[in-house]
Amino acid sequence: MSRVYNFSAGPAALPLPVLERIRADIPDWNRTGMTVMEVSHRGKAFIETAEKAEQDVRDLLAIPDDYSVLFIQGGATMHFSMVPLNLATAGRTVDYLQTGSWSKKAIAEARRYCEVKIVADSADRKFTYIPPQSDWQLSRNAAYVHYTPNETIDGVEFHYIPQTDDVPLVADMSSTILSRPVDVSRFGIIYAGAQKNIGPAGITLVIIRKALLEPARSDIPSLLTYKIYAESESMTNTPPTFAWYVAGLVFEYLKAQGGLEAAGQRNQKKASKLYTAIDASKFYSNPVQHDCRSRMNVPFVLADPALDSKFLAGAEQAGLTNLKGHRSVGGMRASIYNATTEDAVDALIQYMREFERRNG
Ligand SMILES: *Cc1c(COP(=O)(O)O)cnc(C)c1O
Repeated sequence: MSRVYNFSAGPAALPLPVLERIRADIPDWNRTGMTVMEVSHRGKAFIETAEKAEQDVRDLLAIPDDYSVLFIQGGATMHFSMVPLNLATAGRTVDYLQTGSWSKKAIAEARRYCEVKIVADSADRKFTYIPPQSDWQLSRNAAYVHYTPNETIDGVEFHYIPQTDDVPLVADMSSTILSRPVDVSRFGIIYAGAQKNIGPAGITLVIIRKALLEPARSDIPSLLTYKIYAESESMTNTPPTFAWYVAGLVFEYLKAQGGLEAAGQRNQKKASKLYTAIDASKFYSNPVQHDCRSRMNVPFVLADPALDSKFLAGAEQAGLTNLKGHRSVGGMRASIYNATTEDAVDALIQYMREFERRNG
């Protein structure tokens, strides 16, 4: 068997033991004589799997009882519309922090329905920092405050939870969920597309305070209404059963690995090794202000961009894949989600040093 060191930003690497378990479950899952892809989502076997996945993610994140946990199709992007449609009446003021490419997209979508106020913006320095909370201009009457705790493309991460008092805080946690413990009670809504740290693409985890379930408007489609998913236990229509099952295996695996406290320590160690190597070199650099560097997505550039394609080709040969930076940022990006091991980070650092020695 040959597996590469995969630094993909998403869909991203999955833990090998989870993949092996999936293989073992095919073609005879739980002695049903079928795979999980071939059974009714309303049957006992699948319902048990779905309920266990929910319980395991509740345990991992210590989700309080006054929150619903939903599994929804449509990706994180669908919540760029669902959040404003469910929480705000037409034209209502909503506050957004613009700290990178994903929050910018969320803002563009919310503008279709609401009066968006950008309360903090780091576009002036190409999304390489987070304006301090003391400079934010939060509205007193906003329906909610939206932010992106980890900007996957720009490699910028909040290392604290914003303080919004009584205004519900909404977070797009697609690329940071499950990377360390988080105090769920501070949030109104957390949503996260699965394909970074949860499982395969096709499902989105939503954690919503039950008090926010009542939709602000009545003219929205049922499949864009959080309350309808909550009432049907995310089985309003056929859910992405395979993706839900794999997410459940990932939750189970993470629990067995010591939960989020342990995951946080592993991730901290991986990120700090990589940033230390970048900072110690004159050949590589990371443009992000140190106190808001991402622990999940590490962008870096070479001193000479003409060497980019040589760097990538050599990396590929060394079994290090998907290191090309996002087209909007250029350079390189190493995504080091939960399933990317410390060994992978060590191999990358070794390759970077060797490349610098030969070309620097
Ligand atoms: C990947 C990503 C998205 C987009 O997710 P889709 O599932 O493709 O809609 C949105 N926000 C963040 C922070 C992401 O990392």
